[in-house]
Amino acid sequence: MRSMVWFRGKDLRVADHRPLAEAAACGEVLPLFVLDPYFFDAIRAQELPHRMQFLLESLVALEANLAHLGSRLQVVPGRSVEVVTRLAAQWKVDQVLAHRWVEPFGQERDRRIAASLEREGIAFRLFEGTTLLPPGSVRNAQGAMFRVFTPFSRACAARLDPGPARTAPRALPPWPPELPQVGVPVPSLQELGIDHNPQLQPGGEKAARARLKAFVQGPLGAYGGDRDRMDRPGTSRLSADLKFGTLSVRTVWQAAAGAGDAARPFLNELLWREFSHHLLAEWPELLERPFRAGFEGFPWREDSAAWDAWTEGRTGYPLVDAAARQLRAEGFVHNRARMVAASFLTKHLLLDYRQGEAHYLRWLTDGDWAPNNAGWQWSAGCGCDAQPWFRIFNPVAQGLKFDPEGAYVKRWVPELAELPPTLVHEPWKAPEALRQRLGYPAPFVEHALARARFLATAKEHLARPQA
Ligand SMILES: Cc1cc2nc3c(=O)[nH]c(=O)nc-3n(C[C@H](O)[C@H](O)[C@H](O)COP(=O)(O)OP(=O)(O)OC[C@H]3O[C@@H](n4cnc5c(N)ncnc54)[C@H](O)[C@@H]3O)c2cc1C
Repeated sequence: MRSMVWFRGKDLRVADHRPLAEAAACGEVLPLFVLDPYFFDAIRAQELPHRMQFLLESLVALEANLAHLGSRLQVVPGRSVEVVTRLAAQWKVDQVLAHRWVEPFGQERDRRIAASLEREGIAFRLFEGTTLLPPGSVRNAQGAMFRVFTPFSRACAARLDPGPARTAPRALPPWPPELPQVGVPVPSLQELGIDHNPQLQPGGEKAARARLKAFVQGPLGAYGGDRDRMDRPGTSRLSADLKFGTLSVRTVWQAAAGAGDAARPFLNELLWREFSHHLLAEWPELLERPFRAGFEGFPWREDSAAWDAWTEGRTGYPLVDAAARQLRAEGFVHNRARMVAASFLTKHLLLDYRQGEAHYLRWLTDGDWAPNNAGWQWSAGCGCDAQPWFRIFNPVAQGLKFDPEGAYVKRWVPELAELPPTLVHEPWKAPEALRQRLGYPAPFVEHALARARFLATAKEHLARPQA
């Protein structure tokens, strides 16, 4: 049996990779990665600089890992729909194996590839692996997908036995000598016109494993208390590894679960990730429409000055501005800062959550359609959430509670470095002379007024007759 293993951007590893293990058990293995212009066209790639950096590093590492096992990754430019079928026929493979994606455009791509492979008489087998449980398989008593996280997580926990994460194969069969090598070198960032950002986490399976080990041996034990503290390294920073699959979610789950009860809050966050993927699989239209139908046609404002202040970190609210600046500098934002910044954009500034969602997808290294969409809809009040839409984060109160000394804010908004903790989250209360010296902007909107404006707008919109 000859199998093509088609690696895609969400499974860049050799350990716990079921298509690879299955192919190796069946016979010859032909590993492929396609440089589809949908992502790798230079213009497109430049729109995703941080994700592209992490992905290319992970791809180089994958190539080396496969070579170490005796195989050879073929990196081939072209449209996936065309390249996969052409090479599968040319290489006379019996089957093409890959991991399933939940995103609607990924599903559409796979439908087209399945049809063209079928015409060639080649089997196309998709494996679960992006999530712990297959999307669509966790249902309530009526057989429907859950609309609220807590019962979803309980239903998951009740049947969750992800099974052992597999180690990498010890060796892989060599590339068949009669087949020509058609691959090209992995493109460099430079070739795509992207500057290297040294502040990003390194990609690749080895770096991912080191991060997982360091987290399990370190912050995991105190995660329940520290996860919301923006001034502490209390979270795993594994989100890009989970997005690009340099670690399987099963591997992360098992490594953490070994810590017993202390791991529960962390495992719960993995279930939030799970929930977002199951939601998108059930309702692919979520990438375009709000989960709560009442928010359809919401009168979001257009205000380029507000947008520029929010994206450039000049709103005058230190926590919101720290999040904006961390995003551009590091390709990462702490979860609590994401929630506060997203709430501020949508509720204080009344700007469309889809604008913020696209901005985050552009700059986050972990930018991933399902959790990003769920996070934005949740923050805007139109998403899948047991909390009412009218909860509005107060950026000052959030800062005082979860960054009490202002260390997080000061790191990203250094102009506030000399303020004491009592003032760092509300610098407008500093004496006039000191404020002048700081050169930090006054608040773009006043919290109480902005809050009242959102509540009035949303109330009126939600009260209108529904179509
Ligand atoms: C507006 C907004 C946008 C977001 N966009 C993304 C995104 O594009 N990609 C992404 O992976 N996460 C996103 N999140 C969720 C969350 O902020 C990140 O997963 C988390 O901050 C990553 O840091 P960590 O790996 O240290 O997380 P940890 O606290 O260590 O959590 C472990 C893992 O659980 C998952 N996770 C944690 N919190 C959430 C959550 N609320 N929803 C879904 N999964 C979660 C992640 O995979 C994370 O790596 C978003 C949240 C918000 C509010």
